[in-house]
Amino acid sequence: MFNPERETLPREEIEKIQLIGLRKTLRYLKNSPSKLKDKYKGIEPEDIHSLDDLKNLPFITKDDLRECYPFNHIAVDLSECARMHMSSGTTGVPVINAMTRNDIIQWGEIMARCLATAGLTYRDKIQIMPSFGLFNGGFGFHYGAERLGCFIVPAGAGRSLMQLKLIKDLGVTAFGAIASYPARLIEVAKESGFDFRETKLRVAILGAETWSDEYRKRIEEEMGVKTFDIIGLTETGGVGLGIDCEAKAGIHVWEDHYIVEIIDSETEKPLSVLQEGEMVITTLTREGLPLIRYRTRDISKILTYEKCSCGRTHIRVDRIKGRTDDMLKVKGVNFYPSQVEQILLKYKGLSPYYQLVIETIKGKDDMTIIVEKADNGITQGEIEKLNLELYDFLGFRSKIQVVPEGTIQRVPGKAIRIVDKRKKA
Ligand SMILES: [Zn+2]
Repeated sequence: MFNPERETLPREEIEKIQLIGLRKTLRYLKNSPSKLKDKYKGIEPEDIHSLDDLKNLPFITKDDLRECYPFNHIAVDLSECARMHMSSGTTGVPVINAMTRNDIIQWGEIMARCLATAGLTYRDKIQIMPSFGLFNGGFGFHYGAERLGCFIVPAGAGRSLMQLKLIKDLGVTAFGAIASYPARLIEVAKESGFDFRETKLRVAILGAETWSDEYRKRIEEEMGVKTFDIIGLTETGGVGLGIDCEAKAGIHVWEDHYIVEIIDSETEKPLSVLQEGEMVITTLTREGLPLIRYRTRDISKILTYEKCSCGRTHIRVDRIKGRTDDMLKVKGVNFYPSQVEQILLKYKGLSPYYQLVIETIKGKDDMTIIVEKADNGITQGEIEKLNLELYDFLGFRSKIQVVPEGTIQRVPGKAIRIVDKRKKA
């Protein structure tokens, strides 16, 4: 089983588990072949008296892991590992997570909890749409669904027409996908006269990208499903770190396996509840790549440590707003693409396909928002209203270019939201 009874432990119990897990992870790392252990010279597990002492430990960054490429950060001999996954690494050196057999069992446990939190049981048929490969998504869903006892349709990425056919013919009730993919499925469904209401589909579990509440609303309406936001990183052991529940009141992170902190990226000081900053994760049960205070670059905030209306007692963090790497700075204003998406998708005449093109014109930043029209399109009056709303949010004027459906290139994997031509200049 996946220890669901641990999801409702009282806070004192959770904290006890975390303190033991933290000391154990530190001891384990110090005695391992991992190069990361150099960080803990002079720091002993016995020095940690309470969870509060965590803040005195050094951080691990993505660059630390990159420097260890391919395997110098792995804490066991590779002969003890079963498999690896790798971060997408679109920029520079990728990061490998080599997993032991126990790690894969742990992954199955946290993923099974996520799927159960989304309302799935062994009776569900789940179609897995992320790829099965170096990217961890496909396998993560697979292990969780297997642990829960679901019927698995391991479709993998792409081939949208076939995805739709399988959903209908096989009576699929749930699917897991990269967040931007349902937009493509909806588009192909429209082109081919496919009606989601004629299927048994009721749940969509989406992750790997930031997606706005407006996008969420749209997917739920058009597909007739409930959506759930799932998070996780290759480094922390893959998808399944946490998920939001029926209450839609934040993402539960499984605290018997992880400790969550939010820090100020600049000062590196821990922030308190409701203060927005960078999420930092400590793993408590991982063997191949145990991490203490790993800086995820994801921007979120702790919402509450209180028990949720779903009955779970594990911490809730806000839906991820963006990655520090995705943060745009245009005309001195900092923002995330998902915040622009949230404004765009309030307009029914615009599709979820958009790109922010930033360039330098006459020595100054200039941003054009290219967005595809949907269905009946958008009126001039609405565009003016949208312009005003964007100006209110951004504090500078951007150009809006509405283009016909299908203009923006459909790419396999994560959507390309930003085209920043300034860097090339
Ligand atoms: Zn809940």
